[in-house]
Amino acid sequence: MAEVFNPFHVAQAQLDEAAEYLHLDPAMHEFLRWPMREVHLTLPVRMDDGSYKVFHAFRVQYNVARGPAKGGIRYHPDETVDTVRALAAWMTWKTAVLDLPLGGGKGGIICNPKAMSEGELERLSRAYVRALGSLIGPDRDVPAPDVYTTPQIMAWMMDEFEAMHERHAPGVITGKPLPLGGSAGRGDATAMGGMYTVREAAGLLGIDLGKATAAIQGYGNAGSHAHRLVTEMFGTKVVAVSDSKGGIYNEKGLDYQAVFAWKREHGTVVTYPEAEKITNAELLELPVDVLFPAALEDQIREDNAPRVKACIIAELANGPTTPEADRILHEKGAYVIPDFLCNAGGVTVSYFEMVQNLYGYYWDAGTVYERLDKKMTTAFHAVHKAAQEHGVHNRLGAYLVAVRRVAEAVRLRGWVRS
Ligand code: GLU
Repeated sequence: MAEVFNPFHVAQAQLDEAAEYLHLDPAMHEFLRWPMREVHLTLPVRMDDGSYKVFHAFRVQYNVARGPAKGGIRYHPDETVDTVRALAAWMTWKTAVLDLPLGGGKGGIICNPKAMSEGELERLSRAYVRALGSLIGPDRDVPAPDVYTTPQIMAWMMDEFEAMHERHAPGVITGKPLPLGGSAGRGDATAMGGMYTVREAAGLLGIDLGKATAAIQGYGNAGSHAHRLVTEMFGTKVVAVSDSKGGIYNEKGLDYQAVFAWKREHGTVVTYPEAEKITNAELLELPVDVLFPAALEDQIREDNAPRVKACIIAELANGPTTPEADRILHEKGAYVIPDFLCNAGGVTVSYFEMVQNLYGYYWDAGTVYERLDKKMTTAFHAVHKAAQEHGVHNRLGAYLVAVRRVAEAVRLRGWVRS
């Protein structure tokens, strides 16, 4: 029987490969393979019908050598501690590759938010923050949104933290609504950051994005904004999109406003009338120029990677490609913009949000995007250069940049000397 996919094993295997290239000292390597701290929480919550339900939740602070732990919280029925560990590791490499003064962390609650009322979600979110106590805070660990968590959830969490600590502390969490200290540009930051990297990759490969086609897997925050931005910024024709229920295809292109409105009204893109239905698996294999995996982990694997035809694979999701698939794509000559580079726009604007909260002075959207562009473009070229110099695939190139930075901080602190 095939091993059940374990994202943490993937994250560790990726690090192992980088450690070998960097000749990391064995103690440093072992230290970077594990979270520095993780908490498991058991949360009883009163449901609307008066019954009580017990939820299991996690927060992993993977590495804090470069700054406070930073990373989102996912609400998902299939959440596991190993998924959260992997995502926390990737946050560590993500903040490092963008050269943000932050560490990496992640949280998760096993729940199905689609089957919960607003009141139930609020009580669950507040219970999570109460249980974490002082383990989070602006200079300790700063959560943010991720899969199925929203600015409203961030607002409840911030409010709970402030009530517990009897002071304003907007910097405890990012991705807040604007009136509560959120940043302009945070809503579409993940997709926007991805666009800057796609622009750079297309420039290197000589692809004219104005004549190109794209497919987007996933229609959450990252995927839906990517549909709009790739159309508006580059004039790229999006021929296929999907969500967790399936996908749609139209070779003439899918209008983002119409599809977005349909999804909002009907809860899925699948029933959108002016398109053919396709599966999520078929979407990944379409002959498009740019493929955006923007859903969950473990989508491009050894079995389907040989059939992926896109020239640029821009990973807006975390962990969509397995290590075996990375090798296959590299050999085929596909240009992968790896997740912790491609989707780093979200955490970069989260960092901008923290800075604005600290000095209580807010930037306009133009300033945010301009600074985001600079950060993303610099990181993109650092990764490209590392990959070229070592003759390795881009994900390994990104690891070489990030791991070197984190290891240096660990060494300078005297935690592990080598
Ligand atoms: N959840 C997003 C990510 O995976 C954003 C994290 C943050 O803003 O801290 O990068």
